[in-house]
Amino acid sequence: MGQVNEERRGVYPFCASCTASSVAWRVTDTSGPASGHFYGHRDTCPDCGSSIRTLYHTVLWVPVSKLGEYRVISTGGRSYIGRKLLAHPVQSVVRGEPMSAIAEHPELEAASEYRTAEAYWEDSEPGEALPFYQAALVEREKVLRADDPATLRVRLRVAQGLLATANYGRAIAWFELVTPELIDVFGPHHDLTHAATEAVTGARLMVGGPRAEAQLLANVVAADEQSVGPADPQVLRDRAALGKALLACGEISEALYALSRVVRDAPRGHPDTAVYRAALLEACEVAEARGKRREMLLAETARQVLSDESTPTNT
Ligand SMILES: [Zn+2]
Repeated sequence: MGQVNEERRGVYPFCASCTASSVAWRVTDTSGPASGHFYGHRDTCPDCGSSIRTLYHTVLWVPVSKLGEYRVISTGGRSYIGRKLLAHPVQSVVRGEPMSAIAEHPELEAASEYRTAEAYWEDSEPGEALPFYQAALVEREKVLRADDPATLRVRLRVAQGLLATANYGRAIAWFELVTPELIDVFGPHHDLTHAATEAVTGARLMVGGPRAEAQLLANVVAADEQSVGPADPQVLRDRAALGKALLACGEISEALYALSRVVRDAPRGHPDTAVYRAALLEACEVAEARGKRREMLLAETARQVLSDESTPTNT
């Protein structure tokens, strides 16, 4: 029900239809001579006032390549908020529910942890449900793929439980990991995908900007290093989120370092590894677009890590 209402209202200050045709997007650092600038104004929305603008990568204020289209609302002066336009509008996508291997494992649906978790969730008690979902997730991951629809549902619930209990850093790390998998498996317009993209936006608002997020995640990773091993899924997930937060505040070298480390330590043949590799590739592209010599050298090294045959992939 909550999801339906969100969809109808839109995500403030965007109206419902502009929300439905776009996804949450975070501004990366666009200062300096090589950066991104918006050009053009079209399709101004009569309801929320947003307009479609095209973001270009610019070098010395000259546009050199198109980065994408956004719905943008100016918030005074040079500041603005934006949502990235979806390539395929909502109405055109109709998908069935993806197939799960859980039919072969009925004991997972019957397990008491899972049933307790679901009961708490239905009573709107995500914090109470969290430890039970975490226990259910351990059991699912023993027999199902991490990107099986039935595993993804529980992974999302764990993220939502962490958000509800104000564990913002670890919640952000989970949402960033599962969102690309939810998009792949359920599609970009499924309720679960929508719940994840909007929840991570909410978590970021609570944290208060990329710098605060990077600091929070640095503390989370330091705590992980005391409690779990260097290739533990938790530290990989949290360090990847730290890398993305560093990228968002323009700390490109540190982002490349953190994400390269995650990619080297990632598990072989695991769907999460594809998400981590994509994050490192994005950091390389940002470094190359900014054109600073030192960062470009680091990006070159990172690309070698990605292409090295000994580096884990998802297959
Ligand atoms: Zn609108």
